[in-house]
Amino acid sequence: MATELLFRDDAYLRSATARVTAVTPQGVELDRTIFYAQSGGQAGDTGHLVRASGERLAVADTRKGEALDSVVHILAPGSAAPEVGETLALEIDWARRYALMRLHTALHVMSCVVVAPVTGGNIAADKARLDFDIDMSLLDAARITSETNALIGRGIETETVWISDAELDARPELVKTMSVQPPRGTGRVRLLRIPGIDLQPCGGTHVRNIAEIGGIRVLRIRSEGKRNKRVEIALAD
Ligand SMILES: [Zn+2]
Repeated sequence: MATELLFRDDAYLRSATARVTAVTPQGVELDRTIFYAQSGGQAGDTGHLVRASGERLAVADTRKGEALDSVVHILAPGSAAPEVGETLALEIDWARRYALMRLHTALHVMSCVVVAPVTGGNIAADKARLDFDIDMSLLDAARITSETNALIGRGIETETVWISDAELDARPELVKTMSVQPPRGTGRVRLLRIPGIDLQPCGGTHVRNIAEIGGIRVLRIRSEGKRNKRVEIALAD
């Protein structure tokens, strides 16, 4: 069953209430959620489902279910399970999610500094990376750090834009990621626009203003194969 994805319209929601629609060996499904399910390289959220009694059920991870837009909240081992129909208060681990948001948006900014096809990517709470199909000699940690931070310093507001699958097909240049194709099936695709910097399909959660990233530093650059040159970053603070 599809879950209403509240984070899509407001990535800053830290709490909400929802009703349990299914409990399976995989986890708990809700009619609506603020928990982001792992996808597009961004890690799934952690947090708690709080019962009316005050009992707190720890969510260890969040993954996509089989149905389109279905979300499975994976409970920590040994946790009690809620019942179908029960109303729960949802709380995400906000510090962790906000770091994921800052790092995810930072990768979009960095993809404008390193101009090459993206062959992979991942966003964890403590670090993030993009893999590029580029010659190693063109990757300089100091330059990537300073140019990315200069763009972040411009303090630009981010925007969410929806376009149709057909419009995206007509503009293949929008898709920088060779390994991750934007999700299809609903007839429309969500884009993240950072005006003047970047525009690309993305279903992830992002900061409202790139100034919130603060700054980044390159942790390391290394070759992961002929077409995968990995640039790993962390938040500067
Ligand atoms: Zn993205």
